[in-house]
Amino acid sequence: MTQRKSLFGMVPSLALIFLGAVCVLCLAAGQTASAPKPAGVDGSRIVQADNEPGNWMTHGRTYSEQRFSPLKEINDQNVSQLGLAWYYDLDTNRGQEATPLVIDGNMYFTTAWSKVVSLNAATGKLRWSYDPKVPGEWAVNACCDVVNRGLAAWKGKLFLGTLDGRLIALDAATGKPVWERVTVDRRYRYTITGAPRVVKDKVIIGNGGAEMGVRGYVSAYDAATGNLVWRFYTVPGDPSKPFENPVLAKASKTWTGKWWTLGGGGTVWDSIVYDPESDLLYIGVGNGGPWNQRIRSPQGGDNLFLASIVALKPETGQYVWHYQETPGDMWDFTSSQQIILATISVDGKPSKVLLHAPKNGFFYVLDRATGALISAQPYTYINWATGVDMKTGRPIETPIARYPGDDPAPVVPGPLGAHSWQPMSYSPLTGLVYIPVNDVGFKYKSPDHFVAHELSPNYGVDVVAAGMPQDPAIKKAILNTVKGQLVAWDPVRQKKVWAIERPGPWNGGVLSTAGNLAFEGTAGGNFEAYRADNGEKLWSFAAQTGVMAGPVSYTVNGEQYVAVLAGWGGVFPLATGEVSFKSGRVRNISRMLVFKLGGKASLPPLPEFQEMAMDAPASTASAAQIKNGEALFQRYCGGCHGDVAVSGGVLPDLRYSPTLANEQWFDIVLGGILKPLGMTSFAKEISKSDAATIRDYVIFRANQSKTQTDHDAGSSPKTAACPSRMRNVRPRSSVWKLRAIPQ
Ligand code: CA
Repeated sequence: MTQRKSLFGMVPSLALIFLGAVCVLCLAAGQTASAPKPAGVDGSRIVQADNEPGNWMTHGRTYSEQRFSPLKEINDQNVSQLGLAWYYDLDTNRGQEATPLVIDGNMYFTTAWSKVVSLNAATGKLRWSYDPKVPGEWAVNACCDVVNRGLAAWKGKLFLGTLDGRLIALDAATGKPVWERVTVDRRYRYTITGAPRVVKDKVIIGNGGAEMGVRGYVSAYDAATGNLVWRFYTVPGDPSKPFENPVLAKASKTWTGKWWTLGGGGTVWDSIVYDPESDLLYIGVGNGGPWNQRIRSPQGGDNLFLASIVALKPETGQYVWHYQETPGDMWDFTSSQQIILATISVDGKPSKVLLHAPKNGFFYVLDRATGALISAQPYTYINWATGVDMKTGRPIETPIARYPGDDPAPVVPGPLGAHSWQPMSYSPLTGLVYIPVNDVGFKYKSPDHFVAHELSPNYGVDVVAAGMPQDPAIKKAILNTVKGQLVAWDPVRQKKVWAIERPGPWNGGVLSTAGNLAFEGTAGGNFEAYRADNGEKLWSFAAQTGVMAGPVSYTVNGEQYVAVLAGWGGVFPLATGEVSFKSGRVRNISRMLVFKLGGKASLPPLPEFQEMAMDAPASTASAAQIKNGEALFQRYCGGCHGDVAVSGGVLPDLRYSPTLANEQWFDIVLGGILKPLGMTSFAKEISKSDAATIRDYVIFRANQSKTQTDHDAGSSPKTAACPSRMRNVRPRSSVWKLRAIPQ
């Protein structure tokens, strides 16, 4: 630039000739001189994101991750005219949790199985796609479906974390890999589902696996070279070896027993937020592994830094402060939920705070610079604590909270959390935080004895005691307590301002906009818009599938769009069985849906499904065999095929499996013939006789269900409902691949 300016100054005529030559070159290349490089994002662009509200350049749009769009062409006066502009079918049929990035007219997003798609953001035309080829058998290491929540963009590259623990840099123009690093020790069951963030040329990435015996950490890699710059462990390792940093020596004093042999947990699987004002990086740390503290750290202790927010220096990963929300976690109360940075009124003065609604059900306002607790109140019904002691910052636990007795303790919330990964949104215009709330408890009980397994999650709680009872009255009473909400929360007064009740949990992430709108997808299959200030419902679109992901808004050529990834899945429909039916019995139909005012596109009719018969053989097993089979099923199978063998409809409902009557059951469970689809071989831990016992239990459950007229075997309309009883006439992946990857 400087050179050209001086050239202009000295020899104007020459400069004009030079300029002309440049323009000819531009035309030859089919672009203008100002056309930005794809994903040409850097720190100054992200810090000044409000100067280009038409782009969504980082996971939460800005470094503050408020997920508020300043766009208002679409607003509370005209949102009724919002229509589908285009849609794009995906070639995966598992949970879709990603937030897309939209930068200078290009859209980039991840799908299930850590795949990446780039589309023209105005038309939906495919630019490129990338498949990191995650081995199907790695799925057994994922607690919560083979999901991925998004990408980071930086200086022409996109960064992707894969389910099998890799961090991959892609060329944003072509989708070709530039570098790839394995970020985990593959001897352990780590997974990555969260979006990386980039701060000062460092790609920050965490991982998951707290239920699978891992030790959590967050790493920073050089964006240009892929070299590891620093790593911060969230829990101390074996104290007989040197600690990686001095703060871990201190943290080790809050642990007891031999926690390091069990991993300890504390994974940073979602929220990583950078504050350019304080120059601090905040990480949300996950639950203890195993959940049950009596097993993990038998003499108690706070177990730092589990279930905490930790502030680090972004250049070095050096510890600055922490605030522990759930000391001595024993409920899977992660603090990995989204962190929002905002300026709100505290004692009448504008204050820089951090807003957090973790799984434990309290809404926290913290001082961003120091981590000091400003306020905390429950944002929905909870029974594990009565409040937070403002002197100590600690929760005031109730007597049942630590499930001390021999009977299961009905604790609310349960491991699903009062709020999970579905992103919330803060509107600086209304001053409200929009939280997708889950209201569902869990029956916690310590097991009689604990053995860590390699092919099942190791919760350290009695998963049989936690199962749904089949007594209709008890079942009904439990299901009646389950619901979901969209809560508009005032963080200044720590009060609910309005709420939309949902039939069940696991509804979508939220986008708020300057058009006085809050957008949210529902588990039941809609995408909806509400007035942000008062919760009046203004618009709804039938999405044909559950919508969980965080929506975004952007412009192309000045026209505003709203986009959301649709596709039912995640841990809720995989693991919770009949509870998941409360939210809506939808199928997985994975698509990017994009809307604009006057949009005229429409979705194709629902793909044809064929209802399956539940025709299991008669149950001949003894009560003891069935009991054994139940314990094995709940340990090894329930996390994906559903509590007490009732599938939430994303993965096969085994009660309907034709393999109950033939040897293929063993080819699948032990022979691993469905590995490419995500079903590993369990031969390492399950004997042929155990596999037969599990099948006996499923046959028993199928016969039991046939005699019931309640939720899991009741009649249901043939449309989108009761997916667990249907299968595609043709396997979806092969049919839809043809349409999804045309190029
Ligand atoms: Ca967890």
